[in-house]
Amino acid sequence: MSKQYFGAIELGGTKTNVLIADDQNNPLAKKVFPTLSPTETVTDIARFIKTTVASEGIELKSIGVGSFGPLDLHPDSKTYGFITTTPKLGWEFFDIKGKIESALDVHVEIDTDVNAAALGEYSFKAMQTIQNLVYITIGTGIGAGFIVNGELLHGLVHPEFGHIRLPHDQRVDPFPGICPYHRDCFEGLASGPALAERWRMPADEIPQEHVAWDLEGEYIAYALSDLICTVSPEKIILGGGVMHRYYLYDIIRAKTIQIMNNYIRSKYLEESVGDYIISPRWKNESGLMGALCLAYQSSRPD
Ligand code: ZN
Repeated sequence: MSKQYFGAIELGGTKTNVLIADDQNNPLAKKVFPTLSPTETVTDIARFIKTTVASEGIELKSIGVGSFGPLDLHPDSKTYGFITTTPKLGWEFFDIKGKIESALDVHVEIDTDVNAAALGEYSFKAMQTIQNLVYITIGTGIGAGFIVNGELLHGLVHPEFGHIRLPHDQRVDPFPGICPYHRDCFEGLASGPALAERWRMPADEIPQEHVAWDLEGEYIAYALSDLICTVSPEKIILGGGVMHRYYLYDIIRAKTIQIMNNYIRSKYLEESVGDYIISPRWKNESGLMGALCLAYQSSRPD
């Protein structure tokens, strides 16, 4: 059988990654654009894909998109595939799925950036023995994608794990939080911009020995213990810019075990915690690889 080709787009708040690959994960062409206005961004994506497809003499079977949100992911909705109430100027209620489909005349499968990242990580061979996984990004914002019983979780809208409430001891941390909706939710306390505002310096300039990281690790560990007690994931993957501080992983692992306090008995909450709370195997490419998986999935017969 001849090879098939697919497109993958990771649409972020500041940059957009585009990849064209064959059905065996082999990349053919790749490009990064700054995310500008919706029309400019769709034009950039379409131009790159059209040029590549023409010069390689191929045809795309489908395109997968992992996008910032919130997104409307209800297939029955009139605004299915739209970015909805985003504060990002010009992008409110933009039909991202429809515009890419009409620009390129090919089917587009869309999901949230974090669901795509979860799917990308789940595609690893090492994950074939599990059915439940959570990918959390901790960066400019905080969000999570869930694989439950082998499938992406959508539910009412889609999970907004960045906005759960955490214990916040005002005597230890008087910082009020920065979420415009909830102030001291998880994202309001622990995102990159929250770190910067609390400590009055850019998050990537806070030194390793600063007390910031212990507190950061504690908030993340509280969030993980909520997660472990609700969906019981078999793997927790932590990505995003804040997690480039590799030493945070050990702080988070130790504090999660401490908070769980031996209530749930599993080797993964004891000596094997290093195999449980992990960094992304695709490094910064989980979302893009997941978008490619979305494209593969959509072209498979049911
Ligand atoms: Zn919030």
